[in-house]
Amino acid sequence: MNILYGKPVKESIKLKLMERIKKLPYIPVLAIVSVGYRDDTSIYLKNKKIFGESVGVKVDICNFNEDITEDELVKEVEKLSFDSNVSGIIIQLPLPDHIDSNKIINLVPKAKDADGLSSVKENTESLIITPATARGVKSLLEFYSIDVNDKKVVVLGRSRLAGFPIATVLSEMGAQVTVCHRDTPKEELPNICSSSDILISATGNPGLITKDFVNNNQVVIDVGINRLDDKIVGDVLFDEVAPLVKSITPVPGGVGLLTVVSLFENLVDLCYNQDINKL
Ligand code: NAD
Repeated sequence: MNILYGKPVKESIKLKLMERIKKLPYIPVLAIVSVGYRDDTSIYLKNKKIFGESVGVKVDICNFNEDITEDELVKEVEKLSFDSNVSGIIIQLPLPDHIDSNKIINLVPKAKDADGLSSVKENTESLIITPATARGVKSLLEFYSIDVNDKKVVVLGRSRLAGFPIATVLSEMGAQVTVCHRDTPKEELPNICSSSDILISATGNPGLITKDFVNNNQVVIDVGINRLDDKIVGDVLFDEVAPLVKSITPVPGGVGLLTVVSLFENLVDLCYNQDINKL
């Protein structure tokens, strides 16, 4: 069994990313819109800022009070959209309940949509910018030379942030993709999953994937990041499943390490596209 670690993938992408950023005639600026304060969000924001600045991007965290109204937030995002110094914008989720997250995400113009989330809704056939988690999964598969063409892939989860874009990307890569979700009959899941070549779980259910879901020639990609008894675990019961499959990503230390680097790859793609459009 091979463990597919995220670290070497991240390091190799980071080097290429720094080269591309150096070639730009300006320092890219990523604006991150966040509302209120949550411990977990502040860690994600800090990670993005530290990583961004380590590769030569200026990261502006635009944090608004919890009681900002939806209309006020709309105006703030519009301001950033028209600001020519801002190369990319991301909306840090979750937003408070009184704000319609989809409405705010959809305000981000495609040319600045570093998260690739506004394109998910508008274009279900193909993604203009691949959302970061899906791009991380793609990078990991490519780095480890895992061929997906014509392979049977099962994706568990179909959220806008993770499952749906992952399934779309895999399908664009030539895989035969089956998507399962909360409404898929529970008793059918083990059969559907164990007959796949590649199993990708993005459900947020710790321990969902047991020995009954896998086969010994399978690649298992665990996208779940779940807090359980003060530990971070994936959707896969790692100790039980790992010895039974061909390759598997660990949690932590797997796909999760690639989300931030993928976000900055998206930003740099946008910068290059914006420059082409200016010519
Ligand atoms: P979500 O709650 O928005 O979506 C969960 C999806 O899983 C839904 O489509 C739901 O139908 C499906 N689902 C739930 N329970 C299921 C079950 N028992 N069987 C089959 N399908 C089921 O969550 P999300 O934002 O998509 O996140 C999912 C997980 O991925 C979480 O653990 C989250 O922390 C993690 N995540 C990781 C990254 C990363 O960078 N690796 C990024 C985003 C999310």
